[in-house]
Amino acid sequence: MSASQIPPATAVTGDDVPTLLVKIFGKDRPGITAGLFDTLAAYSVDVVDIEQVVTRGRITLCALVTAPSPAQGATGSSEGDLRATVHSWAESLNLQAEIISGRGDNRPRGTGRSHVTVLGHPLTAESAAAIAAAITSTGGNIDRIFRLAKYPVTAVEFAVSGAATEALRSVLAPEAAQLGVDVAVVAAGLQRRAQRLVVMDVDSTLIQDEVIELFAAHAGCEAEVAEVTTAAMRGELDFEQSLHARVELLGGLDASVVEAVRKEVRLTPGARTLVRTLKRLGYQVGVVSGGFTQVTDALKEELGLDFASANTLEIVDGKLTGRVTGAIVDRAGKARLLREFAQQAGVPLAQTVAIGDGANDLDMLNAAGLGVAFNAKPVVREAAHTAVNVPFLDTVLYLLGITRDEVEAADTHE
Ligand SMILES: [Mg+2]
Repeated sequence: MSASQIPPATAVTGDDVPTLLVKIFGKDRPGITAGLFDTLAAYSVDVVDIEQVVTRGRITLCALVTAPSPAQGATGSSEGDLRATVHSWAESLNLQAEIISGRGDNRPRGTGRSHVTVLGHPLTAESAAAIAAAITSTGGNIDRIFRLAKYPVTAVEFAVSGAATEALRSVLAPEAAQLGVDVAVVAAGLQRRAQRLVVMDVDSTLIQDEVIELFAAHAGCEAEVAEVTTAAMRGELDFEQSLHARVELLGGLDASVVEAVRKEVRLTPGARTLVRTLKRLGYQVGVVSGGFTQVTDALKEELGLDFASANTLEIVDGKLTGRVTGAIVDRAGKARLLREFAQQAGVPLAQTVAIGDGANDLDMLNAAGLGVAFNAKPVVREAAHTAVNVPFLDTVLYLLGITRDEVEAADTHE
């Protein structure tokens, strides 16, 4: 076929073409979709659009098709015949059918498209109402809603058009905080599927502990160290000074404590699932930590991470000296490492995801294409692109548009 023989793309969906919206609703069973299109095929109509969902065993099937021309169809039929045939087919299966005449395709979607992911634990009707109303208040239209997951949280995604991503974020963030749900707004488009590097903070993000506090417990200076850590995470103290002050308190500890601390580290719920799923999807995964390589190297090995960087506790003659060696990984250092990992992975910065909880993660979260504040302090939560406040790290997958079914299917097929 030469180019001139190809029918113009607007032939089927032009605004003036008569179309029929055929909607079927009822108890789902095998063969409904095939049955409907078999019935329609007798009228030689073309498919413009199809949407089908099944919710608790009930099917909603919508087909937008061109209206049959009077001369078309094996039975010399017209729109009236088509309507009668579809209704009698539906009745024979105990389904409800509705057929609405109109013209052309669906109305074009507005410009500015975003995905709004809502994580609830549980997701209340009140929250769903407030979020939908907030989206409407921005001028956005909800084009589609579907469930991403029911475990460990209820996660639903709204496809929204007609509003700027930033506008949605600014309206939905305070709404989410008030409702006690997590709402993430990301721009739609290929970029979202192209995210290829995830870099995580370690303490209170990948793991539930603050590693220095585990060391401090062995040194008997837990309270002093915890106090400095808390102040540093609130952004009240320069990280490097506080690191030196805390590490100094560990001077003289036997190096065997390192192994003991490694064993005490508790991964955050969902951490293994997150890393395993990302790796299967071909992502590269790294960690950056203001903690210590003595722990992060072990985590890298255990979880099969691609990158890990942290501070190193100096050990001389089998004892911790109370000093760290090499360049300090602080707030600026974490952002620098994200850039380095991205370069090594061959991934543009816009296609990276960073996850962290502390003030020293903020530069990294802002430098990444998507920065996720994970159970973070308010100062971090308010500055990040998005926040997750449920204690399950694998819920970050839902922000990337990955469904629970996909996560579980990947596990089954290994
Ligand atoms: Mg942290």
